[in-house]
Amino acid sequence: MLEVKSLSKSFGGIHAVQDIDFSVAKGSIVSLIGPNGAGKTTCFNLITGFYRPTRGQVLWDGADVTATNPHSMARLGVIRTFQKTNVLRNLTAFENVAHAQYLKGRTPLWRTFWPSSETAAVKKEISESSFAILELMGLGKRLHVEAGALSCGELRLLEVGVAIAAKPRLLMLDEPAAGLNTREAEGLAELLSALPGKWVDSILLVEHNMNLIMKVSDNIVVMNFGKKLATGTPAEIQHNEQVLEAYMGKA
Ligand code: ATP
Repeated sequence: MLEVKSLSKSFGGIHAVQDIDFSVAKGSIVSLIGPNGAGKTTCFNLITGFYRPTRGQVLWDGADVTATNPHSMARLGVIRTFQKTNVLRNLTAFENVAHAQYLKGRTPLWRTFWPSSETAAVKKEISESSFAILELMGLGKRLHVEAGALSCGELRLLEVGVAIAAKPRLLMLDEPAAGLNTREAEGLAELLSALPGKWVDSILLVEHNMNLIMKVSDNIVVMNFGKKLATGTPAEIQHNEQVLEAYMGKA
């Protein structure tokens, strides 16, 4: 589905991403891991068209989509989140998800949530699907709470819900477990594992929480100083000497 080839990005003398190759197959969860500054978020920005690569290619279903703008990537079904939560804090959890669904393929609405011209059938479909997404996120009892009043853990879940509402084929999550406690991160891991095949085709994940990574990933790409250090299944990565030494700081 997604393939990156020799992806590279330099900012002046900083080689943030150098010759990165990996792919994400339909139905899989792939994780990009590595220490701070390894180049993970830059990879996200290159794939989603926020940055133009210095070199290399991004392929989507075999077609070259290198440096396609973020809006067009979203229309192709590549939806991402950001490290900083990005929900609309004055809207309720339900309104955030419903708004994201409504926006898919439409012009943003700034004044009215539902334009009077919208058909009852569309409103019903979006409402039902928003309830289902929030239930899936474990936010069924928090529907009518303003996003700004949600806890950090609830906000992270809402953000995943908003991304799912855009009906991604590839869901790209940038540190979705940041700020979550152990129990919340375990809940998130269960949720993510259940998404491919039903709500999304595949997931590409950047995350520092190793328990979550090891639980949910089919494949892991380890980056260090912009380069690919290793790739493999969680079991392979856990036993990779290079990774243990360079990334996990083996004693
Ligand atoms: P973290 O885990 O801390 O989020 P990361 O692996 O996502 O780190 P990046 O944010 O991709 O790392 O940064 C990789 C390198 O590129 C860093 O040295 C960073 O300072 C640099 N960098 C990233 N974006 C820019 C930019 N817009 N201009 C200059 N340098 C940048």
